[in-house]
Amino acid sequence: MNSDPNLLNDVKDHVCTCAEGLKFTPDIEEFLKIPMRELYVSLPINMDDGSIKVFKGFRVQYNEALGPTKGGIRFHPEETIETIRALAALMTWKCALHELPLGGAKGGIICNPKELSHLELERLSRAYIRGVYQIIGPDRDVPAPDVYTNPQVMAWMMDEYSKLAGKNVFGIITGKPTSLGGSAGRYDATARGGWYAIKEAAKELGLELKDATVAVQGFGNAGYHAAYLAKKLFGCRVVAVSDSKGGIYSEKGLDPEDVSGHKVSTGSVLGYPGSTNITNEEVLELDVDILIPAALENVITEENAGQVKAKILAELANGPTSKDAEPILLTNEVHVIPDILCNGGGVTVSYFEMVQNQYSMQWDEEEVQEKLSRRMKKAYHSVLDFSRRNNIGMRQAAYTLAVGRVVEAMQLRGWI
Ligand code: NAD
Repeated sequence: MNSDPNLLNDVKDHVCTCAEGLKFTPDIEEFLKIPMRELYVSLPINMDDGSIKVFKGFRVQYNEALGPTKGGIRFHPEETIETIRALAALMTWKCALHELPLGGAKGGIICNPKELSHLELERLSRAYIRGVYQIIGPDRDVPAPDVYTNPQVMAWMMDEYSKLAGKNVFGIITGKPTSLGGSAGRYDATARGGWYAIKEAAKELGLELKDATVAVQGFGNAGYHAAYLAKKLFGCRVVAVSDSKGGIYSEKGLDPEDVSGHKVSTGSVLGYPGSTNITNEEVLELDVDILIPAALENVITEENAGQVKAKILAELANGPTSKDAEPILLTNEVHVIPDILCNGGGVTVSYFEMVQNQYSMQWDEEEVQEKLSRRMKKAYHSVLDFSRRNNIGMRQAAYTLAVGRVVEAMQLRGWI
């Protein structure tokens, strides 16, 4: 999942494409193509069986021109520094696009959390924070959850940082449980933000969301909530969902909550009563109105882009579409809501969490959702308008706006 070097190349290529439009010099372009800071850590962990295992981790702070860096921590057996670097770059553009006063970062540990006990996971989470302690902080770099990390992991990490600092530092991390300073509404913010953007796109395309068909790849935080909210908020028909083991299809529609119960009891969405098992590849090629990749990088490529039949491709995953696939999607008039736009709801509510922590405030869920809705709508329309005015695709428009803001901040700070 995480070993594809193309994502990093694609992210760099997108910056080059913007460089032409923004007319910045090759020096600036070079600066934007490499991270400002990277830290590699080795984490020796006492395993339950008495042995010691050494895990490798990373933290990449890509660009901090707009503010403290922000980005999730992934636990994955195939994690690589290249993927983390690319995802840190994406966070930089995402924060800029959504007008958040934040830079971009990402972290990860090469591990399989499914094979670790609760206590081993806790030791590893705490060790990671000891490893990166010197370079993170509420005014420096604020981590968050990502693939295979969750609010419990964030709580351990916040606690470890607080112990090292000798005081409570709730603002060190976001995505915490609400009882420990987490924001209301963070749990579904990525998917909800994505749906606020899809709603605007549907209006533009004249697509009625009631009974619109939806396929979702991935059934974790982003994917499950995307499927659940599709039905709950708009009355869409969710005809397919998938997880790492494969997908399921039902023409008359699935009940995402019930599918989730099935996954909890059996370990997968596969075999859900009344559905047909399909492959993850087939999920992407279904004849649906809205396709939501919410799991992996580089799943829509030059090979299968021509088979995408959806009217709207809403990228909740980071980097699900390869650069080669883009022109094919554009030719086929698939309306792409690019990742840095579509999945920005997560970091937006994380930013709300930082603000609430700083002022010891707690906003209720309604307030969070109302603020999120306003920001997603604004971001979507700024990208759409820019793409129409300049006759470019949504992704190039999003990148050009975002990179332009980072370059302006670097210039104003006198860095370049
Ligand atoms: P998660 O760990 O909660 O879920 C990941 C899901 O992907 C699981 O359902 C897993 O079964 C599935 N998966 C793993 N391997 C797969 C495979 N080979 N084929 C199909 N499915 C597979 O992670 P998440 O937080 O939901 O993140 C999913 C994507 O969304 C990632 O690209 C992540 O970077 C992106 N994202 C998440 C957030 C967030 O707030 N959670 C924010 C922005 C972007």
